[in-house]
Amino acid sequence: MVLKWAKLAKEAIAVSLKPVTEHYPYKITKEAPPGFRGKIQYNLEKCIGCGMCWLNCPAKAIEPVPTEKTRTKKKPKFYLYRCIYCGFCAEVCPTKAITLTQDYHTATLRKEDLVIE
Ligand code: SF4
Ligand code: SF4
Repeated sequence: MVLKWAKLAKEAIAVSLKPVTEHYPYKITKEAPPGFRGKIQYNLEKCIGCGMCWLNCPAKAIEPVPTEKTRTKKKPKFYLYRCIYCGFCAEVCPTKAITLTQDYHTATLRKEDLVIE
């Protein structure tokens, strides 16, 4: 009986407090903290096609695809739906062509939205 009253009191307090959840994605107020590893940004102009990113990706989220713009005629294609945001690709890239941004808004209904070339 005491437990029941305690539970009721706890629920009454919870109802009277301000909500702690937000209506995502309609009301977004939170910035990602410094050092957060979010959506990948890739700069083809800086890429030399060395392959360090796809050779070191533990999630196999990067595939080499043909291009005329790099020395080796290859460039990475990122599949963010496989990515675990470890940041290894950015760390090993010798030309800093890859950046993990603060953007954490990756929810989508289309898988193609999560492919970066
Ligand atoms: S952040 Fe990690 S998992 Fe994602 S693409 Fe880069 S190396 Fe692969
Ligand atoms: S590691 Fe950097 S330079 Fe090398 S292929 Fe990947 S993006 Fe291009």
